[in-house]
Amino acid sequence: MKTPFFTQPMTSLCATLCKFAGVEPPQYAAPSCDELANALESQGGTKRADRILMYNPDAVADYIYDRYIDKFAPCETIAPVRQRFITVYPPKTPVCFASMYTGAQPEKHGITKYEKPVVRIDSIFDAYIRAGKKPCIVSVKNQSMDKIFRERDMAYFSEEYDEEVVDCALELIEKDEYDLICVYNQSYDDAMHRSHPNSKRSLRALDLYASSFVRLGEKVNTCWQNHDTLIGFAPDHGVHRMLIGLGNHGSNIPQDMNISHLYGIIPKHKE
Ligand SMILES: [Zn+2]
Repeated sequence: MKTPFFTQPMTSLCATLCKFAGVEPPQYAAPSCDELANALESQGGTKRADRILMYNPDAVADYIYDRYIDKFAPCETIAPVRQRFITVYPPKTPVCFASMYTGAQPEKHGITKYEKPVVRIDSIFDAYIRAGKKPCIVSVKNQSMDKIFRERDMAYFSEEYDEEVVDCALELIEKDEYDLICVYNQSYDDAMHRSHPNSKRSLRALDLYASSFVRLGEKVNTCWQNHDTLIGFAPDHGVHRMLIGLGNHGSNIPQDMNISHLYGIIPKHKE
């Protein structure tokens, strides 16, 4: 059976996050995703989240998520709302993250191929800053998430690789200073390009994504007890296997374009 393309645009995520944060969405953001907002509201019992923790694991396709769903069961305990999105074309890392955090199509934000210039249009980070809130990005040094949202009055943490990124994010959660933390990891993307989407090495990377997300969620639960937190597991695009065997992405096919995100509300602890 031929897999259909998902229909809910990933560009609707940005306004949805802003809605929960009580922040006016960035200028070109697509309308928010009611399906996700409603599901989160009933799961968390709140329309607002004064903290957002976004975990951005690179290249987890929807079908890969399903194939290894057992690995992600602990993630779904933390973030039980699964939202299927169609990402933007071309499904390349900087193109997709620029759309995820501006809510705009590539033609609008200007990154239409694999390049990492600073995004000049309004983004969720600008929206947060305008609202007097503090966003930050924790990324592997020189990767897309490290570079494309620079030149804003906010904090950037550039780390060596995934483990260091997660350690840094755990410390930031403990410090309890930022309203929005975006955490970027890439080891599955690296592994599948060098082998294939189901290689042992790739599967180890998926395990690392899952365990990292769980650690972040547990840290939020311990350290952000005075906040309602929206937590997300949010890949940028999918992956397919080329005829020569290696993993790749960038094509207008469901394997590359269909992604599943997980979201949950971790409510404030009662007195
Ligand atoms: Zn990517």
